[in-house]
Amino acid sequence: MSHNSDLTRRRTAWLMSTALVGILGLSAPGAAADPPAKSARPSKRAAPGRKAPPQPKLRVVVIDPGHGGPDSGTIGASGFYEKNVVMVAARVMARQLAATKRYRPVLTRNGDTYIALRDRVARARAAKADLFVSVHADSHPDRFTRGASVYTLSESGSDREAVALAAKENKSDIIAGADFRNKTADVTSILIDLSQRDTINQSRTFASLLIGALGRNGVGLLAHTHRHAGFAVLTAPDTPAVLLEMGYLSNRQDERLLVQPAFLLRLANAVVDAADRFFASRPVSDPLPLPSVSNPPPTAPPRPGPAAASKKA
Ligand SMILES: [Zn+2]
Repeated sequence: MSHNSDLTRRRTAWLMSTALVGILGLSAPGAAADPPAKSARPSKRAAPGRKAPPQPKLRVVVIDPGHGGPDSGTIGASGFYEKNVVMVAARVMARQLAATKRYRPVLTRNGDTYIALRDRVARARAAKADLFVSVHADSHPDRFTRGASVYTLSESGSDREAVALAAKENKSDIIAGADFRNKTADVTSILIDLSQRDTINQSRTFASLLIGALGRNGVGLLAHTHRHAGFAVLTAPDTPAVLLEMGYLSNRQDERLLVQPAFLLRLANAVVDAADRFFASRPVSDPLPLPSVSNPPPTAPPRPGPAAASKKA
């Protein structure tokens, strides 16, 4: 219906302008994701007696807005496209993370473009992500189903609904012609065979923190919200990763919320809150204990100060 598509276009335009200009104060899209200017680091051999204050290391949080380009994702009850809703939500999250001066947010896409799932993972690794949050909005045949949910990578994929959702989200690559299904299964099983339990455990820890934070920020949650499935986008072996389904676009109330800047702020603040709690117990000098063939185990410096410098080098 042309009336509906007009309405959708107008709503999308309103959403973009309100969220980006009103809430974010951005002059151009992407500003939130730009890395901060590199500040001069004090030399390790600073003159004795003039001890430079340690530069706080910015944690890299990769926000991954799902879908994009020809892959619109779910289409909402009144016509909103998931790919647009998650793009705006991701920008709000990036903005809130950057505002803390504790995080460097990186978006896996910053426009209506198609990014293969494996490339999203690759971008996160290239950015040396400390945390990866894939952002989606769900749909359900039952239009009364609503609420946010958080997913982590499964070892077994025993939850049938979660597996079905993973299949749907993973289809993103098939739509653009690159079938990632088999590779995903391989990658997933290899990762699990390598017993990279630590990353999975860290992901689960973050998922729990995020669920708590969503609740505290007034975001309604699906019952039994923390679930596990084989999402291709969660397979970076060394980055704690979750997939956040912010709500159901198939539910009119959820859909209305998901295009409200105030609600997107609540979601974004929940991500910041969860990240703060997650990293509070993880000093920067302690890298994840990763099994690695090519690199010797890192020798952690006694103090967190120079760690940022050695990682950047
Ligand atoms: Zn999605």
